[in-house]
Amino acid sequence: MIRYLVFDLDDTLYPRGSGVMEEVRRLILRYMIERLGMDSTQAQTLRRRYMTEYGTTMAGLLRHHHIDPEDYLAYVHDLPVARYLQANGELDRVLEAIPLRKAVWTNATRAHAERVLEALGVRRHFSAIVDIRDMDYVSKPAPHIYPRLLQLLEAEGPECILVEDSLRNLRPARELGMITVLVDGEGQGEVDFVIGRVEEIGGVVQALGEPRPAVGRRPR
Ligand SMILES: [Mg+2]
Repeated sequence: MIRYLVFDLDDTLYPRGSGVMEEVRRLILRYMIERLGMDSTQAQTLRRRYMTEYGTTMAGLLRHHHIDPEDYLAYVHDLPVARYLQANGELDRVLEAIPLRKAVWTNATRAHAERVLEALGVRRHFSAIVDIRDMDYVSKPAPHIYPRLLQLLEAEGPECILVEDSLRNLRPARELGMITVLVDGEGQGEVDFVIGRVEEIGGVVQALGEPRPAVGRRPR
């Protein structure tokens, strides 16, 4: 039985191009230039390389530059989230109607998640926020942190739906039997559902709740 609806935060609960992640990316580059003494080209090249290799810039910076994760996280999330995001009444109603526990799982900090959820006007729906500190600064898609999520939620894989804008972050979840939902991306055949906007999650939950015809059972 499905018990948990787990959402990634950035570019999932609000649409890509809202300005938040553009600003975070700008701050990441500024961090690399200011704190690590890189020039702009070097910073951009390394950021792309670390994203490709590890899924986040932070993972690469921790590994190769031994940064202080708390200093980095404070620096790159120092932005006025409310300037980019507005209350989303439709999402509020969709979440209200879904009778599952809801959680956020983010590669960012709890404080950033709180600010985003407040700006969207949907904070009240979420009973848990799992952040990068809960994962000892290891970010998705490192496969070994996915069981930790389940441990924190006290749930089994098949009891959870994971909603993400990143196909790469969904793959390890599927391995654990979680139901995977990709928002605004190309992932047909690799995930269980693809939706265009997060507000469509209500339809996915409904589809999962409907009795499905037994498959693979043949008359004897
Ligand atoms: Mg995301």
